[in-house]
Amino acid sequence: VPVVAVVGRPNVGKSTLVNRILGRRQAVVEDVPGVTRDRVAYDAQWAGRRFTLVDTGGWEPDAKGRAAAIATQAEIAMRTADVILLVVDAIVGATDTDEAAARVLQRGGKPVLLIANKIDDQRLEPEAAGLWSLGLGEPFPISALHGRGSGDLLDEILKLLPEMPEDREPKAGGPRRVALVGRPNVGKSSLLNQLSKDDRAVVDSVAGTTVDPVDTLVDIDGETFHLVDTAGLRRRVAQASGTEYYASLRTQSAIEAAEVAVVLLDSSEPISEQDQRVLTQVVEAGRALVIVFNKWDLVDEDRRYYLDREIDRELKRITWAPRINISALTGRAVQKLAREIRTALDGWEQRVSTGELNQWLAALIAAHPHPIRGGKAPRILFATQVDIRPPRFILFTSGRLDPQYVRYVERRLREDFGFIGSPISITVKARE
Ligand code: GDP
Repeated sequence: VPVVAVVGRPNVGKSTLVNRILGRRQAVVEDVPGVTRDRVAYDAQWAGRRFTLVDTGGWEPDAKGRAAAIATQAEIAMRTADVILLVVDAIVGATDTDEAAARVLQRGGKPVLLIANKIDDQRLEPEAAGLWSLGLGEPFPISALHGRGSGDLLDEILKLLPEMPEDREPKAGGPRRVALVGRPNVGKSSLLNQLSKDDRAVVDSVAGTTVDPVDTLVDIDGETFHLVDTAGLRRRVAQASGTEYYASLRTQSAIEAAEVAVVLLDSSEPISEQDQRVLTQVVEAGRALVIVFNKWDLVDEDRRYYLDREIDRELKRITWAPRINISALTGRAVQKLAREIRTALDGWEQRVSTGELNQWLAALIAAHPHPIRGGKAPRILFATQVDIRPPRFILFTSGRLDPQYVRYVERRLREDFGFIGSPISITVKARE
């Protein structure tokens, strides 16, 4: 969903405009400058098109350093919005602060609409002309309070919004690409054999798909998957002759060619350094992850006890990955892999709208504020998900966040939105 950001110094009528665009009464207008509203992003709609409206009024600075702070507002807007509305009080005219914002917005490649607000009737229209001096083109006269010109403004905004089809990043067509990885002897070849055992399972060609000769198409639980770089798993010799370094390169390239990595562990043996390295490779490559405990047929009650403890200890950092216990030898639970792969890919491709994300964040901060350091706590001003596959987030803040707090935010993101099976990244951009 495209994002429209409203920028402007305090008291020019940003919130009134936001309410006008959202089509409701002045529910959230605060007369006190600098008051932080609890929400900054809203889902808006006009003429059948949806967009997220971001009200930067929530990030308003204290009186000192106002020009610098508005420049920051404008910069955040530039980075996250598709269209920016700079709201100016046309009756007051362009102030230094307005000019500071305008300078930042002139530099960026984003479309900007200069809003001349408080033009409550026809006679005031000439006042708008004075704002040409801001260098942002023709001022757009409106009265946010009375609604004058707001319909035309919305039409104008829609013209500037980028075309966004429902699915902006369409899946590369064809079966999902899966890498079967793990240290030697965990059972990768056995699993491949098990999956391609009966004739029904092996799929030679799927319309519209190109599969390298080194790859394999298999059917798991009724869905075709594209297993990448399986040549080495078919020819045991090649694998045996490889050094560990070579094996690791091979693993890396398989992971990169895939969307989701299925990492096999040997349940009958302790989780090793080498297992950890493979897991790290997947996380660092930003691929979806499913952890498979293979050789489950060898696990008795005793081993189960120790394995549970190893999992608690060794897999702490990736409790988010779906886990499944299988036996490549007997075929136990192998078909269930399909479901875990789909779950992980869903998490990998999930997108939370800016409106929903900030609403959620406001509630989270209210319930669990950042700890106070040196007399004050940094504020999280605004969050946005900038990417999927894997999901990436940016938090704009008034200062550096404790890493522990960032981890808390990540954990809650996972809990509340279900980012299962995917690494997620959170970047903190602090205004210093
Ligand atoms: P790779 O190096 O990861 O491809 O591992 P292989 O598939 O070659 O398996 C290594 C050894 O483990 C072989 O002797 C397999 O028969 C055995 N193996 C693989 N999967 C299982 C399993 O689920 N249960 C048991 N008991 N043995 C297995």
